[in-house]
Amino acid sequence: MLNIYERLGVRTLINASGPATRLSGSIMPPEVADAMREASQYCVDIAELQARASEIIADITGAEAGYVTSGAAAGLLLGTAACVTGLDPGKMNRLPDTTGMKNEVLIPRSHRNFYDHAVRSAGVRLVEVGIADRFSGAGVRDTEAWEIADAVTERTAAVCYVAYSHSLPPLSAVVDVAHAAGVPVLVDAAGQLPPASNLRRFIAEGADLVAFSGGKAIRGPQSSGILCGRRDLIAAAALQHLDLDILFDQWHPPPSLIDKNRLPGAPQHGIGRPCKVGKEEIVGLLTALKLFVDEDPEVRRQRWLRLMEGLASALQDIRHTEVSVVADRKRDVPAVQLKLDEALLGLSALDLITQLQDGEPSIHANPTRVSEGVVLFGPMCLKDGEPELIGLRVRMVLKF
Ligand SMILES: *Cc1c(COP(=O)(O)O)cnc(C)c1O
Repeated sequence: MLNIYERLGVRTLINASGPATRLSGSIMPPEVADAMREASQYCVDIAELQARASEIIADITGAEAGYVTSGAAAGLLLGTAACVTGLDPGKMNRLPDTTGMKNEVLIPRSHRNFYDHAVRSAGVRLVEVGIADRFSGAGVRDTEAWEIADAVTERTAAVCYVAYSHSLPPLSAVVDVAHAAGVPVLVDAAGQLPPASNLRRFIAEGADLVAFSGGKAIRGPQSSGILCGRRDLIAAAALQHLDLDILFDQWHPPPSLIDKNRLPGAPQHGIGRPCKVGKEEIVGLLTALKLFVDEDPEVRRQRWLRLMEGLASALQDIRHTEVSVVADRKRDVPAVQLKLDEALLGLSALDLITQLQDGEPSIHANPTRVSEGVVLFGPMCLKDGEPELIGLRVRMVLKF
């Protein structure tokens, strides 16, 4: 029988790159798809469902509260908006016009990336702090915590921190100076899973809000994510995301998510309304999150390692190349690295990647290191049988 994509006339691809949005994210476990189908057959009060999600996410992350978003980027927008408005519904209604509000977000210069569009969408201006000499090779330092303290003004709404294993200054140092100045810290941890321990780590280090993707390693719906952190900030995010087209007297939000008694009135549709989340995504994310935290990390690592070892053996002994499995012990995600002797092959790593992608079936590898003549392959979206297909195709392209 034809699969849904064949019926639509859309080709599927082999994803040896990773859960990129462009390549449609990860592959959901059947339990997650089943949960979404079941969820789709009922109507519920979305605020009640988010309140239950908040308890489950709080339990897993150690945060006071949590919220299901339509992705990590949506979490950054909602989190920034929450830091700007607090629980003031007047300010919520005025966003993205932030005139007269705290409307600047500090960010170490080396953390800038185009996902910070989501932060700026709330109506704030990003203020870059420090210079990352270590990246240019001109020096050894990156932004330092004292420089962040020095940059805080009465306009500072938050500090945005993008968590990578190489991110500097250390999050805990940033938290110390930010909190000393009464400023919350918002962490972009979109792709920082695994290890599953990172679900708790940034909160434990003092972050006020942390955003994760649901469609990457968690293997939830592609358009899902998590925002977790301080209860008042999660409430402010929820108030700018939920559909509040309801009369105030008729409105009974779950007190654990939104304390109605603290509000002079309810805001209208907020800045977060364009990134709405359906019941199917909420249930799907919660199901995937539970599966993710329940899976023994060593079992997950072995599953990925088997795929990568299968791929490495399919790529063995191709002339003018060296293949190896690289184990990233910090992140638990192994990869296969194929190093090309581009001069002898007469073909670059980018040529190989492009030909794999443009062939049939389309195979996607990770191009991050093409400038070094390296093609990388990752296991997160690979299925059994695909490593062998990749091996055959690479041999065809390299004529071996
Ligand atoms: C993937 C990613 C995002 C966006 O996550 P979505 O869940 O797709 O919205 C944001 N920041 C970083 C650093 C990412 O890697």
